[in-house]
Amino acid sequence: MSEAGRSLLEASRATVLPTYARADVTIVRGEGCRVWDDEGSSYLDFVGGIAVVGLGHLHPAVTAAAHAQLDRLWHASNLYWTEPMLRLAGLLSERMGGAQAFFCNSGAEANEAALKVARKATGRTRIVALEGGFHGRTLGALSATGQPGKWEGFGPLVPGVSFARPNDVESLEAAVAPASELATILLEPVLGEGGVLPLEAEFVRSAAEIAREVGALLTVDEVQAGLGRTGTFFAYEQLGIEPDLVTLAKGLGNGLPIGALLAREGVAEAIGPGDHGSTFGGNPVASAAACAVVEAIDDALLENVAARGKQLATGLSELGAVREVRGRGLLLAGVLDGDAGAVVEACRERGLLVVTAGPDVLRLLPPLVVSEAEVEEALAVLREVLS
Ligand code: PLP
Repeated sequence: MSEAGRSLLEASRATVLPTYARADVTIVRGEGCRVWDDEGSSYLDFVGGIAVVGLGHLHPAVTAAAHAQLDRLWHASNLYWTEPMLRLAGLLSERMGGAQAFFCNSGAEANEAALKVARKATGRTRIVALEGGFHGRTLGALSATGQPGKWEGFGPLVPGVSFARPNDVESLEAAVAPASELATILLEPVLGEGGVLPLEAEFVRSAAEIAREVGALLTVDEVQAGLGRTGTFFAYEQLGIEPDLVTLAKGLGNGLPIGALLAREGVAEAIGPGDHGSTFGGNPVASAAACAVVEAIDDALLENVAARGKQLATGLSELGAVREVRGRGLLLAGVLDGDAGAVVEACRERGLLVVTAGPDVLRLLPPLVVSEAEVEEALAVLREVLS
């Protein structure tokens, strides 16, 4: 860290609420799959803002779209229409068979919206989510997050939430009862924060069937797994289901804050003016960037995700210290015998950014545009650190 950076950090560290255990690195610039710190050291970025910078830092089309919108209009309030928001809704609706969009600013907010719409549309209150699942830190989303450690000190939580074990249909059936009060089953196609655990297609199809049979909705949280990260625009496309509600955020603005709830026809009608809102939701600059993101997720990009994902998974599986490789596309993890946090630090010292997803899970989330040479470069660092 530079001297100026160090003195700014020392002067101001105590003014930031310590919700994160941050590394003492100040990132000042990014381009493609690399970022630079304030001393000019570069890092190969296999965190990507935790599955946010899908198209790489400073992607030309996204940057140009945001710049152009910055010079036209920053904000108008949702009392009026804006062009970028309308265009984005149209693009997302095309991708999800005529769905209607509600825009917000984050993944947690998108899930809050989903829970409210599910309750309003069904007239029921109960929610079934998965053990280990993660849906955000606001009270509703936290209540549906199956990680009890994250609840401590924040109760009472929203009542009416039950949890089932991932990939265990019997456990799901048990959690659903009494089904007559069930509003929604909420799941991530790949449990990201919960250890990069992919759901099996059979389990997800059972969840969809159970929801349909009992008159509840199926909500798929694609905040981490969506927008091309697993090799298809929506991760659910690989699982043979058609969800009622889908949430997006992270990669949608490639780094500008924006989230979305998509509600299919037949559910969307439950919502009217005044039922929900967000001052910044659908912000013109974030929406303009998001339009460019959605347009950039084409067959060529998805083919790169598949090819680079395979390369990375194969390389990981050849490392002796990796017990298991998990994930889909470029949402990947290696389960280690030891502490993944120490590996994150050792990689950073060698110019590679990676992140954990649990004490022994090393998570890799490179931009979807990552090249063959960059994957090889990351594997070379991992080989050195893990040997
Ligand atoms: N849902 C999933 C699957 C996530 O991975 C996350 C964040 O990691 C969230 C929701 C919460 O998103 P945000 O931090 O934007 O509120």
